[in-house]
Amino acid sequence: MKVIIAERCGFCPGVTNAIKIAESTLEKNHTVFSLGEIIHNKDVVSRLAGKGLKTVKDIDEISDNSGTVLIRSHGATNEQIKKIRQKGLEIVDATCILVKRLQKIAKSMYDDGYTVVIIGDKGHPEVQAVVGQADGIIVVGNEGDILNLPRDKKLGIVCQTTQSPEHFARMLAEIVKNGFTELKVVDTLCNEAKKRQTCAVELCRQVDVMFVLGGLHSANTRKLAELCKKHNPNTFHLQNADELDIRIVFGKSLAGVTAGASTPKWVIDEFVERLLKL
Ligand code: SF4
Repeated sequence: MKVIIAERCGFCPGVTNAIKIAESTLEKNHTVFSLGEIIHNKDVVSRLAGKGLKTVKDIDEISDNSGTVLIRSHGATNEQIKKIRQKGLEIVDATCILVKRLQKIAKSMYDDGYTVVIIGDKGHPEVQAVVGQADGIIVVGNEGDILNLPRDKKLGIVCQTTQSPEHFARMLAEIVKNGFTELKVVDTLCNEAKKRQTCAVELCRQVDVMFVLGGLHSANTRKLAELCKKHNPNTFHLQNADELDIRIVFGKSLAGVTAGASTPKWVIDEFVERLLKL
């Protein structure tokens, strides 16, 4: 079997930076907590847990004055930051600069009197952190949510960094069709995520079978898999080589491989090695 790896895939600069910061903080501090899993990849999370990184879901799980809290690349809300400080904990901020930019834009739109609308996945931590930047920020995940937007307000629209440009454009078109009179739109999509999506779509069109590697909870990996599936129905979202079922590749001669922004290189290498042996 022949295998082609997407030109751009795997760790993005935001994730690489967050892991580097986590590792250097662990070298200096005895007790380091991550507010939520540092990235959506269980292999990386358990490797860092082995070095001492403790993952908590809520700040209340941490005792007062007991160490350092790492803010992951998805960011945290103002409320969470305030609570961490009140508990006498140190903060190490590994929020991706593009997520920080999105948060700042949302806040400044709010300060300018706009009702802020973020196009994204309601439950995603990056979106929740944006929602926590100011009062009344509304999340729209699909066309149906647009019907609930307030008609009498001027809307400031941003987008979760890892959404696809197609989804962003579709949602904007739908908002315009619904007749809101004043709209301010800022493109907050991440170029790295866009490039990964373009490369993945180009590749999946050329191959018999396409593999998208990454955590099942990773939004950008799911988005890649969703896009590839549209262009090649033989697309499979797997976490690692152990999930490769030989029956998937039966009768196929050319496979494509891409990976989400939170998938380490060794997961990709191991998977490709396994494929090449078939
Ligand atoms: S995908 Fe883009 S926005 Fe998200 S962490 Fe990576 S570089 Fe930052």
